[in-house]
Amino acid sequence: MARLVLPSKTLAFSRKSLLGLISPAPLQINYFQKISKSSVRYRHFLSSKVILRKNCCAFYSSVPAVKKTSRNLICSVATEDLAKQVEEPKMAMPTEIFLKDYKKPDYYFDTVDLKFLLGEEKTIVSSKIAVFPRTEGSAPPLVLDGLDMILVSVKINGKALKEEDYHVDARHLIIRSPPTGKYDLEIVTEIFPQKNTSLEGLYKSSGNFCTQCEAEGFRKITYYQDRPDIMAKYTVHIEGDKSLYPVLLSNGNLVEEGDLEGGKHYAIWEDPFKKPCYLFALVAGQLQSRDDIFTTRSGRRVSLRIWTPADDVPKTAHAMYSLKAAMEWDEDVFGLEYDLDLFNIVAVPDFNMGAMENKSLNIFNSKLVLASPETASDADYAAILGVIGHEYFHNWTGNRVTCRDWFQLSLKEGLTVFRDQEFSSDMGSRTVKRIGDVSKLRNYQFPQDAGPMAHPVRPHSYIKMDNFYTGKLLYF
Ligand SMILES: [Zn+2]
Repeated sequence: MARLVLPSKTLAFSRKSLLGLISPAPLQINYFQKISKSSVRYRHFLSSKVILRKNCCAFYSSVPAVKKTSRNLICSVATEDLAKQVEEPKMAMPTEIFLKDYKKPDYYFDTVDLKFLLGEEKTIVSSKIAVFPRTEGSAPPLVLDGLDMILVSVKINGKALKEEDYHVDARHLIIRSPPTGKYDLEIVTEIFPQKNTSLEGLYKSSGNFCTQCEAEGFRKITYYQDRPDIMAKYTVHIEGDKSLYPVLLSNGNLVEEGDLEGGKHYAIWEDPFKKPCYLFALVAGQLQSRDDIFTTRSGRRVSLRIWTPADDVPKTAHAMYSLKAAMEWDEDVFGLEYDLDLFNIVAVPDFNMGAMENKSLNIFNSKLVLASPETASDADYAAILGVIGHEYFHNWTGNRVTCRDWFQLSLKEGLTVFRDQEFSSDMGSRTVKRIGDVSKLRNYQFPQDAGPMAHPVRPHSYIKMDNFYTGKLLYF
């Protein structure tokens, strides 16, 4: 995950000092296309290139964060003007979560079928979850997280629950006495992406629907056990107006699409791999793509698409090069091959998290993807290479092998940062890359560790996990 794009001018290692060291962009791309499959040959390649990552890792540490003990954090992400049913409850006090209190969930989810009816006033979300208990025969209450939504209906095995069968408040839906054994849980909710200014969960900005679910945004989409150790296979059905939202994207492979009455259309996406809900993604809007093909070492042809507003498509050539280079490098150096038929990247200007590694649907802020030879510096090209690689490498370190809980955030981020640093080192100058990373370490992490924002790599507790997305955990 990458967050909050900041200009690189704040780096001690000024980009101005790099001018003249690196070849012009078109030439750079031609160089890149000659990459050998030998990992050794990556080293010293473009030896004069300076790699300055502009991803979450590099810059987040300079963003003001709130001290972890603050009791006011929850309020900072409240949305505005929602219907009365979803207003913040008077008694909602933030809860401190402790590592020592970790317990395995009482229930696991096998499959999740989601249906989104995208609307201009509200979006209706239907979920059908195959639930099974961790311990056969036990049936404690099922506690689901949910925030800023209206509950429309709850069914178990096709039968609507009575009001006394469940409890709903502003943060939870609790099924009081679920059946023993496996059952299907169906929930319908209404959410309001147009009013979601927290930019967590599903939100609409500049005409496009977009999601951000790490760390705990999925609970703003539907009621769910919003924790990383709940891994399920997702199928996602999206319906929306075809003229307003001609592109409908989610995780996995596109298995069906078609037109509907009333100027609408639909798409069905299926992700065959289990994933935690923080990796769920949906994008709908007016986007166009740069398309390419990558053939894996086992011969799988993977369609690559980088989606942007139409005017930005010409600026995605280097991002596409970077993605293909990352896929090849991960095969050569780590033996890791991409595992689906399609890999999508979306780059939109309204994504304020920097970049996010949603399974097969990475979402970026445009600043981390777009470059044109007329305006981009060499440092811009290097930064795009690094951050495209970082999010792609998460496909294995973070996505397929994921965290048990958020106290393990540094495992997925630290390992993936190591991998993207190796990638950038192999593609450019290892020495210069290391100098740049140490420079950032000294300029960002050292001051953080010396001040009130200091925290352990693995915190013992948190109130709002978002406050731990600092350079300390993510990038060094
Ligand atoms: Zn990351």
